[in-house]
Amino acid sequence: VGFDECNFASMLQENVKLAQYFKPTPVQKHAVPIMMEGRDLMACAQTGSGKTAAYLFPIISSILSSGPPPQPPPPPLPSPPLLERNGYRDERQYPMGLVLVPTRELASQVHSEAVKYSYRSLIRPCVVYGGTSITTQMRDVARGCVLLVATPGRLVDFIERGRIGLDLCRHVVLDEADRMLDMGFEPQIRSVIERGSMPPVGERQTVMFSATFPREIRNLAQDFLSTPLFLAV
Ligand code: AMP
Repeated sequence: VGFDECNFASMLQENVKLAQYFKPTPVQKHAVPIMMEGRDLMACAQTGSGKTAAYLFPIISSILSSGPPPQPPPPPLPSPPLLERNGYRDERQYPMGLVLVPTRELASQVHSEAVKYSYRSLIRPCVVYGGTSITTQMRDVARGCVLLVATPGRLVDFIERGRIGLDLCRHVVLDEADRMLDMGFEPQIRSVIERGSMPPVGERQTVMFSATFPREIRNLAQDFLSTPLFLAV
């Protein structure tokens, strides 16, 4: 089975050819069809297995096939005096896909792959991570953000500053989930998924990639995934 049989949106199909990927890796062979069906997935995969493309391909294909993005909900209005003084405009961007990763290195790598696979399309991938000035990242996000790669803490910051809304986000990936928990990101992950404005389980696709499956990971999967398939390659 090759990528030709995956029913990718044609723009993605062309970009896979440009990337010169001729044969899916094992994790891609199994994860791509599951995700293309819209199912949730819990996968065990190591770095170097091709896991990034395994989740980016179906998400990019789905966004490309979904037509123009639906209108975001109206922003919450500030109190009338503020409104009168300053006027008010929604400064948030509404990504349709979100990839959470533990480190800025992985964030940059995933972002460059996303840029490659969405070449010549209207999908604009953005990346935000901590440990560096937020100003440049805010300017970049404001230019448009259809697919967001983020570390959890910095994403919480963007949401609190009113720069990102997750109301239209129908695809969520927790990549290297065990490492994110090791680094203490569980509260931020839960805050983003539970208290953010993301569509509920059942109206979004959530996938987790992890090298190990301790109890904390299984609990997270239990809380955030809807009848997931399990994949170990
Ligand atoms: P990852 O495991 O996601 O970090 O990917 C490892 C590397 O494999 C990345 O640099 C990808 O560009 C490359 N890659 C992913 N899928 C394929 C494929 N099907 N054929 C050849 N290279 C690939």
